[in-house]
Amino acid sequence: MDAVEKKIKVLSESMITHFFVQKEDQYFVSYLSDNLLWMSDDNTFYDRQTTLAYLKQLRDDCHGVVKIKHQDFHVYSLRPHICFVVGTVTIEVGSEENQFRENEICISGIWQEESNWCLTHFYSAIKDERLMSQNGSLSLHQQLEVIQKATMIDPLTQINNLQGFEKEAAALLKQYPKQKYVMIKFGIRDFRFVNRRHGYKMGDLVLKHIAKNLLATLNDRETCGRMEKDVFAMLYCFEDKASLEQRVEQLETVLIDTPLRQRLETKIHFNIGIYQIENDHTEYIKDMLDKALIAQKKGSTSISHRHHYAYYEEWMMTAQYQRSKLLEEAPKAMEENEFSLYIQPQFDLTSGTLVAGEALVRWITQDGIRMPGEFIPIFEEQGFIFSFDYYMLDKICQQMRKWIDVGVEVHPISTNQSRLHIEEENYFKDFCAVIDRYQIPHEYIIFELTESAFVENSEKMVRLTELLHEHHYKIAIDDFGTGYASLNLLSVVPADILKIDKSMLKGYSTNIRTQIIIERIIQLAHDIGMSVVCEGIEEQAEWEYLKKIGCNIGQGFLMGKPVEAEAYRKLWLKTPNR
Ligand code: C2E
Ligand code: MG
Ligand code: MG
Repeated sequence: MDAVEKKIKVLSESMITHFFVQKEDQYFVSYLSDNLLWMSDDNTFYDRQTTLAYLKQLRDDCHGVVKIKHQDFHVYSLRPHICFVVGTVTIEVGSEENQFRENEICISGIWQEESNWCLTHFYSAIKDERLMSQNGSLSLHQQLEVIQKATMIDPLTQINNLQGFEKEAAALLKQYPKQKYVMIKFGIRDFRFVNRRHGYKMGDLVLKHIAKNLLATLNDRETCGRMEKDVFAMLYCFEDKASLEQRVEQLETVLIDTPLRQRLETKIHFNIGIYQIENDHTEYIKDMLDKALIAQKKGSTSISHRHHYAYYEEWMMTAQYQRSKLLEEAPKAMEENEFSLYIQPQFDLTSGTLVAGEALVRWITQDGIRMPGEFIPIFEEQGFIFSFDYYMLDKICQQMRKWIDVGVEVHPISTNQSRLHIEEENYFKDFCAVIDRYQIPHEYIIFELTESAFVENSEKMVRLTELLHEHHYKIAIDDFGTGYASLNLLSVVPADILKIDKSMLKGYSTNIRTQIIIERIIQLAHDIGMSVVCEGIEEQAEWEYLKKIGCNIGQGFLMGKPVEAEAYRKLWLKTPNR
């Protein structure tokens, strides 16, 4: 028995003791995977809840004191991180007054190492041949086969999991060498909204529904599986592009049928990635899935794309490589001070005086300047933005402290903060800690968040805004007019500043509707006590127009481009004569 097998033996024994003898359910439950599956004698599967109820019933039937007389577990390593355990436990049940009765229980199951080792499958009828006296059961070899199979099934949807899919896909590709195939991967767009809006139970129901309908789309040379959360994959036959696309375009209607769609009250969209498999079928399945995923991500970024699907192309792999490289370089770039604080001035449109500045990062490399649009979305995707935003805030505060100390006349600076912070538990505390470390008066810091943050999470945003106000910070809604924000948002979140995105200003001169909308939004924001900053002013006529319609603050290349902090001071801040 190797070290892992020994460990599993010990775990199994202590699990049994916790459950039967000490009756400590909280410990017992901690041994069980969230996806625990119970395979009954007739090979039907039951979920964790049912399994727990069954086990508790078994335990509660043992009235009185329970002693363990004998335990005998056998452990078999099936694959790395997966062990099969089979054994018998003889327990004695009773009390000192009444006699103790012996009871033999057969236990078998699968332990898998996820974050910790936990029991993922429980099988009530399998006994180790060497331990069994009765006959008529499956041979150990057959039992292992059943168990192996069960580890390839996704407990929630009952279709293949990743391992099962890989195995079946590889077998099909081998069996039909002349068949042309595509590997498809798809995820549900904004699935977290389904969970949030309708609850996780409904989310699970949607996934089960999709899986069931997905199975029905297959012919006998095809397979499918659920890879993780809301991501599914299929190996589909490929005859020609037109028929494949027809099939793919129908997925949303076929997989989410009308009654479900009506219950959800919204249309569900998929992001679909397609990889056309090389004819020799020699590629590794995981590589095919990876390529389909790269294409899927491409599809997911093209919001305007009617069908949300994309084919994998070689250049996507290069782009992916560049993204990984960028992420690899970022921590070092932080240490080496390659991220530079640039500031763009904002002016009162009537008087032309400076009112504030917006902090905008630039990544200065040996090969030139990288603009935030190139790396901020990648930092957000990969979570690096959490530390990055604190880092930039630190830079802003450090710079302001220096200016305050030498008597430079300081104006507020607004800092762009990723919407991802809203989910961070200690965000506000950590944010304040940076500012307070440099003793920057709070009214000098404006907190800027993109409008989608307010839409996605308005309750949390209201709370955050209140907190910011209690501590005398201001909060701005950035990028207004680019996403899904409704005017109702302005009544829900008491933000201080509305930043109208530059895309709204473009085209105002030729489009009367745009003019009316801009004018009304500005009017409305002012009426509810917000200031309005219009971004992207590039021409004198735009300045004049905004001034005329009462917009109070402007930001744009016409008045000043973002410049390095020291240049900003020289250009725009009053410095005392020395
Ligand atoms: P944003 O916050 O909406 O910033 C305004 C963007 O508009 C800036 O782009 C600015 O250079 C640009 N801009 C200003 N005036 C004009 C103009 O007249 N014409 C044109 N064409 N553009 C103008 P930039 O610096 O490339 O930043 C892009 C976005 O990256 C920012 O949009 C912001 O969302 C994000 N970002 C920048 N720095 C940071 C940062 O330190 N942290 C975070 N989380 N995001 C940042
Ligand atoms: Mg901004
Ligand atoms: Mg903006």
